[in-house]
Amino acid sequence: MKTRKRQLPISTLCSWRDRIEEQPHFQRLPAWTRAQKQLLIDSIIRKYEIPKMYWRMLPPGQLARYKVIDGQQRLHAIWEFKNGDLALSHDLAPVSGISISGMKYRDLPLDLASDFDSYGVDVVIVEEAIQTDLEDEVREMFLRLQNGTALNAQEKRNAMSGAMRDFVKVLGQHPVFLNCAFGPGRFVFDHIAAQTTLIELCGGPTDIRDDDVNLMYERHRRFDVKGAKATKVRRTYDFLSKAFPAKTPELTRHSTITLYGLASLLIDRYVVDDLTEALQQWFIAFEAGRRADEALPEDRRDLQLVEYRRLIHGAADAGENIRARIGIVQERFLAAHPKIEALDATRRFDCEQRLDIYRRDQGVCQLRLKCEGARVPWENWHADHILPYSKGGRTTHCNGQVACSACNLAKGANVLGLAAHWRLANDCDSMPSGEPRKGVTSANASS
Ligand SMILES: [Zn+2]
Repeated sequence: MKTRKRQLPISTLCSWRDRIEEQPHFQRLPAWTRAQKQLLIDSIIRKYEIPKMYWRMLPPGQLARYKVIDGQQRLHAIWEFKNGDLALSHDLAPVSGISISGMKYRDLPLDLASDFDSYGVDVVIVEEAIQTDLEDEVREMFLRLQNGTALNAQEKRNAMSGAMRDFVKVLGQHPVFLNCAFGPGRFVFDHIAAQTTLIELCGGPTDIRDDDVNLMYERHRRFDVKGAKATKVRRTYDFLSKAFPAKTPELTRHSTITLYGLASLLIDRYVVDDLTEALQQWFIAFEAGRRADEALPEDRRDLQLVEYRRLIHGAADAGENIRARIGIVQERFLAAHPKIEALDATRRFDCEQRLDIYRRDQGVCQLRLKCEGARVPWENWHADHILPYSKGGRTTHCNGQVACSACNLAKGANVLGLAAHWRLANDCDSMPSGEPRKGVTSANASS
């Protein structure tokens, strides 16, 4: 966000009244009391500092040039005093020996009136406000100003150093965010990127309040951005990005975090390659169902949806809350897709299986991608999932084969050979389900 700081005399603030548009949209705070207004005017007359105002520059062609983000109450007090609609309070100490108690602007001695007119108010003008996308960023800024904190927590974190900061900054630019409901305020994307990374680091739902995220930045200054956790985070974002390839207004901040949790869990436990479209359709229907349910009379509502609504409206960054939300979407998604294929609970072949595989294949590399069927020593061979684990391949001796390390590495980029299909389909009597496996005919191998 590009900003420009200007110091404007009060006379200008008053003559620009027509150029300044108010923001009823953001301004839902109670109006100032007379005493608050009097205190501000008194502070100006005594030349005390008053807080900065924030205005947003409007696109050309409109009557007004600026919209107030923060400072509306102060502006009103100044305008009221200048117009003679506000008098100073009656119990004020004199200024330079002159009593100003109960005075209106026109009663002020000339010197004080002219000092008042020339008092400089700091105004931060937010430029580049022509895109409507900026609305969110401006709103966020307004909220922060109202809370009295100059920098938000994510901005402070962005000022920290370390690998975690760098990782989150890159993740915050993931294309998935462009299709979410919320705007491009960088710190919003970074914030969610950080929160979801923390969920992944903890292996599931956890508290993702600012303190928790700060701690993650500190503890993971040397975060391995190429390690398993980082890879999993990126894979989950890629999956979500595939599931939501177009703008999806249902993807609010909370639902993005909830869906991250669901997607991460699906990736860990199920064959997800063909699930992206299913997830998108299910989620949009789920949100439509929630809206429809909210219109129902109290006694006919779906209690689980009532609970879900309660969860996203209170303490939404608490671990228990996130766990409950993910639990609800998981339950509903799996109920809607009962045939999703689960991954094998075990990924590693045990000693007995390895020996079976090695003897059956006579210690010869079956992959033959980089070799011509090399004989590999017992001390140095890879037990490879014929149908890759991530595609639902079981950790059974019939889905295992001997691979040399060169071939095993190369497998990722190659398509499963036809012979392997046959062996899977015909030779194995311990297939977990009678149905043909998903992915067998088109599996890109990468176990
Ligand atoms: Zn080989």
